[in-house]
Amino acid sequence: MRVMDEQSLSDNIANLLQRVRRSAGKSQYHNGDILVIAASKGHLAADIRTAHACGIMHFGESYLQEAIKKMAALEDLHLGWHFIGPIQSNKTAPIAQNFDWVHSIDRIKIARRLSEQRPQHLLPLQVCLQINISKEASKSGTTIDALPELATTVVELPNLQLRGLMAVPAANISADEQRDAFSEMREALAQLKGLYSSVDTLSMGMSADVENAILEGATAVRVGTAIFGPRNR
Ligand SMILES: *Cc1c(COP(=O)(O)O)cnc(C)c1O
Repeated sequence: MRVMDEQSLSDNIANLLQRVRRSAGKSQYHNGDILVIAASKGHLAADIRTAHACGIMHFGESYLQEAIKKMAALEDLHLGWHFIGPIQSNKTAPIAQNFDWVHSIDRIKIARRLSEQRPQHLLPLQVCLQINISKEASKSGTTIDALPELATTVVELPNLQLRGLMAVPAANISADEQRDAFSEMREALAQLKGLYSSVDTLSMGMSADVENAILEGATAVRVGTAIFGPRNR
């Protein structure tokens, strides 16, 4: 793997931030800031350091060992670390110990373990519940139907703070269908917000669909390829 040249990384970030700003300006649902999370899985710590120098403060990782190595190499920067990948129950302890946010909680067992294993000296883990919005058999995420029960459990867990919902719509559907999926997520978030005052985050939108996600009310986007180029995995 080669370190990216700083100019292209900086150009990519400037382009992305412009896409984000433009879509936010057009969205009837936009209010407040949009959190840009650079999905840095499969990319080097050196590239994260450059992205930070270009103003990106939050990074998303999906593979635990890879993430922990990069965290150690970047300890001098104060970055926000987001776990965005599928969670196996034997991996919850290091996730609870090392991350600030988890976007991919999709079952009660995982939520309970993360809360039990969150060290007391850290702030509560900030969490989003992942919805399998396109109902793909192979994807993680709970259903909208099962969401109330999961949310009720999560808000009672002492070391988690429920912040919102996350989704990755199917890649093989049309842009209109993706937009419908994002719209369904916005409605689900509005219901959750009505119940729990800590809820403020709708985590959706990746390199290819940032615009539609923001038009439908995303408050956090997770962008890899558009920032760092293709991944090595
Ligand atoms: C990798 C990843 C992203 C970023 O995807 P890109 O298409 O490279 O922007 C976003 N969300 C999740 C959950 C991911 O795993």
